[in-house]
This record gives sequence, C-alpha cells and structure tokens, in this order.
Amino acid sequence: MIVRCVVAKIPILRYQLPINLELHIVDDISLELYENRQTSAGDSESGGILLGSIYDEIVRVEAISIPSGSDVRGINYFQRDKTRAQRLINQAYEYSHGITNYLGEWHTHYQEYPQPSQLDSSEILKTFKNSILPLNYLLDIIVGCGDHIGDLWIGFVAERGIEPCPRIIDL
Ligand SMILES: [Zn+2]
Repeated sequence: MIVRCVVAKIPILRYQLPINLELHIVDDISLELYENRQTSAGDSESGGILLGSIYDEIVRVEAISIPSGSDVRGINYFQRDKTRAQRLINQAYEYSHGITNYLGEWHTHYQEYPQPSQLDSSEILKTFKNSILPLNYLLDIIVGCGDHIGDLWIGFVAERGIEPCPRIIDL
C-alpha cells in the first residue's frame, strides 16, 4: 500500500523592505526556520546564514544554513562557525554562477513575538560594517517560538541603521 503524505502548501512569506524591495521566503525555507524554533525554555538558540538572489526588486531567500556541531550555542546566544559559513557562501556562489549570494543572518529567540536584543543589534551592525557584501544592506531574521510560521522579526540593516520590516498579508 502506498501512503501519500499531503503537506499543506505554505504560501510564500512576503515582507516589505525599504528602498522598494520585497523580501520573499519560499515555503521550504519558512518551514525549515519554523522547525528550528525554540519550543521550550531550555532549548538552545539556532541560527545560520541566509542565501538567496535578487530579481525584479524581489529579494528571495532560497537557502539557509542550519546549526552544526561547530557552532557555539546556548539558551540566549548563538555564535556560528565563521569558517563553515564562509565555505557555504563560496559554494553557493560558485554553484549558481554568481546568482546566489550572502543575504544575512537568522537566529531564534524563545519569544512569541521576537525582538532583537541590544547585543543582536550591535552584532549585526558590526557584521554589516566588517563584511565585504554583495549588497549595500543585510537582512537579519529572528524566529519566534510561537505556532505561526510567519511570526518572524525581519530587520533591514544598512548604513543608516536597522529598520524592522512589516509582513505583507495577501487578502
Ligand atoms: Zn537574539
């Protein structure tokens, strides 16, 4: 007997970025972020990098890295392995012939409606200032612990600072 598992299709999550751009997170990536959320107070944070492409004023997250044994993790912190992340960025760039780029960072919080901590803000600004970036901005995603897949905090990080980006809900 063949048992077919029907997975409900998750709509693309859309967020309004400044400078007339939209951020799109495709269904398998939003599911991956959701599945890596902290479901109990004792869980360590998860995190990684965001990879994707830009086409027609749409920034699309197409891949993320998930935690590995070489990351440093705790209830309130996540520090990814820099060497591994750089290797993944280089591989994605080469395999896609320069189309897939580093877009930013993601990590989880044990908060239903996640907000960046002061340390999060200073760290992502430091990453922005110290990295050679393909874009003149970075994205920062924080995944909350709630039951809704779209409950993400999205930050747009640029020279002028960090701006939170609202979700676009299709009516
Ligand atoms: Zn944080």
